[in-house]
Amino acid sequence: MKPCDVAIIGAGPYGLSAGVHLRAKGMTVRVFGEPMDFWANKMPEGMLLRSPRVASNLSDPDRAFTLEAYEAASKKKACAPVPLDTFVEYGRWFRQQLGSDLDERTVLRVDRDKPDFRLTLQDGEEIQATCVVIAAGIGPFRKKPALFESFSRQQVTHCYEGRDVRKFAGKRVAIIGAGQSALETAALLHEANAQIEVIARQPHLNWIGKRPWLHHMGPISSLLYSSHDVGPLGISRLVAYPKLVSQLPLRLRDKIRTRAVRPAGSRWLPERLASVKIMTGSTVLKATAVGDEIDLKLSDGGERRVDHVVLGTGYRVDISRYDFLSQDLIGEIKQFDGYPKLTSGFRSSMPKLHFIGATAARSFGPLLYFVAGTDFASRELTSHLAKNGR
Ligand SMILES: Cc1cc2nc3c(=O)[nH]c(=O)nc-3n(C[C@H](O)[C@H](O)[C@H](O)COP(=O)(O)OP(=O)(O)OC[C@H]3O[C@@H](n4cnc5c(N)ncnc54)[C@H](O)[C@@H]3O)c2cc1C
Repeated sequence: MKPCDVAIIGAGPYGLSAGVHLRAKGMTVRVFGEPMDFWANKMPEGMLLRSPRVASNLSDPDRAFTLEAYEAASKKKACAPVPLDTFVEYGRWFRQQLGSDLDERTVLRVDRDKPDFRLTLQDGEEIQATCVVIAAGIGPFRKKPALFESFSRQQVTHCYEGRDVRKFAGKRVAIIGAGQSALETAALLHEANAQIEVIARQPHLNWIGKRPWLHHMGPISSLLYSSHDVGPLGISRLVAYPKLVSQLPLRLRDKIRTRAVRPAGSRWLPERLASVKIMTGSTVLKATAVGDEIDLKLSDGGERRVDHVVLGTGYRVDISRYDFLSQDLIGEIKQFDGYPKLTSGFRSSMPKLHFIGATAARSFGPLLYFVAGTDFASRELTSHLAKNGR
């Protein structure tokens, strides 16, 4: 088979957007994976997007296929915050621009087959590609504290591996964490009639947009915050320029990154959590299975007996956990602590292998953790590959 110019692994917001941009430049592209799989199958049912509407657009060269355009085309009422189902449907509508260049099969393996790459698909078919773009998201990077490693999925799950919240009705559930995922899962499970307790290490919970008036001061607010709304006052503006961020020393980039994505809940959550038990300043020291139940020992000396634990403990980027990349290939990619070292065009140290999305956040800043980064990533990648990709 004739090699394609670019194979993109992953059909989430980043893979779909990059595919559309590359196609518009006349390159032969194959985007692999089920469109919007992570959003459709891993996020909890009923979830609302934390990002504002303007920061929830996928990217195409003319900025024509926006969320708003989708709502108009499907005669759907515009909602803010954006419901998960609307976003998934939007992504699937957007995907149509790729036509037959989208291939829903999973990539099982990527090998270097110099000067190209060879991709092995789930049914054994092999595809040659001149360049590979990895847009495979954060699914494999879930953080699971060691004390919960030995539990089955019946007893312990991560926030990012469940969609059906109704199955927890009447159950006692401890939710560990203080970020958006933990707090929103707590609200959804509470509304599904589960008996919830949130256990958070932080001494108090943080809420995004605590001072809404700062966002309503016209041009002054625009100076303080970018429309993507990633990060606090001032930092938000810097984060909106990933190319500039990529030029800063790593230590400064890391500071900006951690400050911009610290654990916090959306401003619509405090009201929904008003009657939920929340234990701050406490960690779980020990977890023991007692039949079908779990006994938790907390750092303040307290004990809890629950039916299920949900981990809202975030994720940690580590590209060696992409099981489709062989250890030989991983070994050749220069990294800083699990993140690939990337330069302009989202190039890794292995020629013609690129990473976009969360794996690029250590090089280009925290915008790349969010859908809002798809526009920069697609344009930067396409401009590089259009010049050098074939
Ligand atoms: C609970 C939660 C809430 C969030 N809320 C927001 C929000 O409101 N706004 C926001 O901007 N961001 C939010 N995020 C961050 C979000 O994950 C990213 O913005 C977004 O998903 C990035 O898109 P992506 O394409 O990089 O990754 P994904 O959407 O994860 O897409 C990657 C895709 O690659 C596929 N894939 C992986 N391996 C293979 C393979 N071998 N072959 C084929 N396909 C493969 C996966 O199935 C997946 O569908 C949230 C994250 C979580 C966990």
